[in-house]
Amino acid sequence: MPLIVEKYGGSSVGTSERIRAVADRVAASHRAGDDLVVVLSAMAGETNRLLELARDIDPEADARETDVLISTGEQVTIALLSMALHKLDVPARSYTGGQVRILTDNVHGKARILDIDADMVRTDIEQRNVVVVAGFQGVDREGNITTLGRGGSDTTAVAMAAALKADECRIYTDVDGVYTADPRIVPEARRLEQITVEEMLELSSLGAKVLETRSVEFAGKYKVPLRVLSSFESGKGTLITYEVNKMEQPLIAGIAYNRDEAKLTIRGVPDQPGVASTIFGQISDAHVNVDMIIQNVAQDGTTDLTFTVNRSEYPRARSILEKISAELKAREVVGDDQLAKISIVGVGMRSHAGIASTMFEAMATEGINIELISTSEIKISIGVADRYVELAVRALHKAFGLEVETHEEILDATAVD
Ligand code: ASP
Ligand code: MG
Repeated sequence: MPLIVEKYGGSSVGTSERIRAVADRVAASHRAGDDLVVVLSAMAGETNRLLELARDIDPEADARETDVLISTGEQVTIALLSMALHKLDVPARSYTGGQVRILTDNVHGKARILDIDADMVRTDIEQRNVVVVAGFQGVDREGNITTLGRGGSDTTAVAMAAALKADECRIYTDVDGVYTADPRIVPEARRLEQITVEEMLELSSLGAKVLETRSVEFAGKYKVPLRVLSSFESGKGTLITYEVNKMEQPLIAGIAYNRDEAKLTIRGVPDQPGVASTIFGQISDAHVNVDMIIQNVAQDGTTDLTFTVNRSEYPRARSILEKISAELKAREVVGDDQLAKISIVGVGMRSHAGIASTMFEAMATEGINIELISTSEIKISIGVADRYVELAVRALHKAFGLEVETHEEILDATAVD
């Protein structure tokens, strides 16, 4: 019997009717012979509602108690789905994360999974029960309830699949797979049949919302066969792959964007050893995450440093930088919190030249100014004014011909080794 771990997100279990629809789907697979573990999110909006309640009592509510509170959303959906399965004569048992011993560290609100004791679940499966597990939560060594961070049910599912060595982990969501770009912005965006885990990891961390980044990391580490599908339509979705078939590798897999960026520049800092360390040391002490960093060539013994931070951290980062600027006798601090980051991702970049110039040319043609650039082996990111996001993403989608499959182009290319 194939063992399948399925995960349904908040919108897929948002009402009783939808829970019944999930039950129908699960029952059909169960009847077809699959062994099933189903991981659920809370009903759409529920985790936010619970967090609101906590804030009403205390805006700085204790992290441990917050986890006790927000882990309840998933307990509701797992019980309801099991009931709905029973109505269809499918044997099912629901468990919280702690009950199936999803052991985590003790970082409340952002816990990492350390271990899963899969024996109990296996016994249930052997008896042909559908095991329904609450996503997003675990338990630490002291028995405290922990949560994994927003969107963490994806990670629960992938981790369960790894622990059980499942044949496939299926993430059911409200889109039918991973797209070449956000279809709300680019109507021609195409669903990818497959994508490499490296590309998926980049796309997730660069802003694509379809899979939580940590779940992709986890999948990569344990090579979990992972598929993203729609819970509302039928279809094969997108398969995350671990082997790169060079002949079939498109140059660019997809485009991601993130609107929540801001940039800061400190001008006229002394060009001396220790300056970057002072600046970024203080920024990191304040727990502000820095993304792209650019340092210019020095002139007359001073230089300019530019970096980006999350928009919500801009005011804090700016005031720290102003303090540092005074200490270092720098010329000035300037910034802009209406920045967006647009990235193209593809493992095909490794063996092809000219990708960056195609990207920049597309921006030039549209008259979009590129404010920052950062690259890695399989991605190029640019910072542009927020108001250009739609235009830039559409232009790039077109420039790289993403609306059609590009395999032929690759076969023709000689640079593929
Ligand atoms: N319910 C949690 C959240 O809203 C976890 C999840 O849905 O994956 O973030
Ligand atoms: Mg989600």
